[in-house]
Amino acid sequence: MKYLDEYRDPALARRLLAELGAVATRPWRLMEVCGGQTHTLVRQGIDELLPAGIRMIHGPGCPVCVTPVAVIDRALELAATPDVVFTSFGDMLRVPGTSTSLLQVKAAGGDVRVVYSPADAVRIAAAEPRRRVVFLAVGFETTAPANAAAVLLAESLGLTNFSMLVSHVLVPPAITAILEDPECLVDGFLAAGHVCSVMGYTEYEPIAARYRVPLVVTGFEPLDLLEGILMAVHQLESGRHEVENQYARAVHRDGNQVAQEAIRRVFRVADKEWRGIGSIPDSGLVLADGYERFDAALWFPSGPRSPESASECIAGQILTGVKTPTDCPAYGTRCTPRHPLGAPMVSSEGTCAAFFSAGRTAAAPSPALNAATS
Ligand code: SF4
Repeated sequence: MKYLDEYRDPALARRLLAELGAVATRPWRLMEVCGGQTHTLVRQGIDELLPAGIRMIHGPGCPVCVTPVAVIDRALELAATPDVVFTSFGDMLRVPGTSTSLLQVKAAGGDVRVVYSPADAVRIAAAEPRRRVVFLAVGFETTAPANAAAVLLAESLGLTNFSMLVSHVLVPPAITAILEDPECLVDGFLAAGHVCSVMGYTEYEPIAARYRVPLVVTGFEPLDLLEGILMAVHQLESGRHEVENQYARAVHRDGNQVAQEAIRRVFRVADKEWRGIGSIPDSGLVLADGYERFDAALWFPSGPRSPESASECIAGQILTGVKTPTDCPAYGTRCTPRHPLGAPMVSSEGTCAAFFSAGRTAAAPSPALNAATS
């Protein structure tokens, strides 16, 4: 397939692996930030093909997984409100809240609709002026421009029945929080290429300098990841700590200025709670002054919050790379994609779902590894 096969060439992959084996003289631990990168690494068995000592730690870059239970519970409340049309991307529907999910609210008669763009939700609001339409705006910097554009579209149409429940998170403060953790295990990062295609990578330069860690902006195909890992290991072996751009075919240092301007206009930076991790300063986006009228959290009074129930899900430790899914006693038994106990098993970007779909068990290597080495 043109433009994909070039990045999946087995001969080139073997060459990159051989170079990595020749360059690495000691163990290094690298974190891939993005859940999409995790899926490629695990599905292709790349993490198991790396030279001994090079370990990939799967980071918190799955937006569904880091959305707090309180936000899911709020979404469930709104979705069950009689005159509300609750719209969301499909990957949020099965995420468990405290006691139910959007899919169960829909099955019970709630008007929950899957949309493919926030602009679809605006169109529903325009077509159904007597209904209050709420869009669940979840994601990293990648989805923020489209969400900002939807708010601007609703404003230009003069809509008063459209709002968003916003749970946006930002990557650089999360990387900083990981590096500030005294138990931090990470020697270098693969930054998420799609986030950087929007934001550029100037925000990462002070992080690399202050914490003396390499950050390599990396794409999502197997050869992208192998090259990103190789670039990071080259830096570590030579004592450098810089931001490098492996994904130059899509990312420029300054990113997409038009998209950034839309984000700046509609949102402002605020402290943010991350599921399983806790509050990280300045790590989220909320609607900016002048756009609060589109904030669903202000439209609808909140009911009493039930305390976050104790769960056997160890998502927080998975998301910070302290543990892997096969360390979780529920993995593959009580927790599967059909019956998920936690968000990392629900989301298509979740680490637990990536391990499960690749057939990973604690005892057996992945089928992808077997295929690649046979
Ligand atoms: S396997 Fe399930 S219960 Fe365990 S950490 Fe992953 S999502 Fe949570």
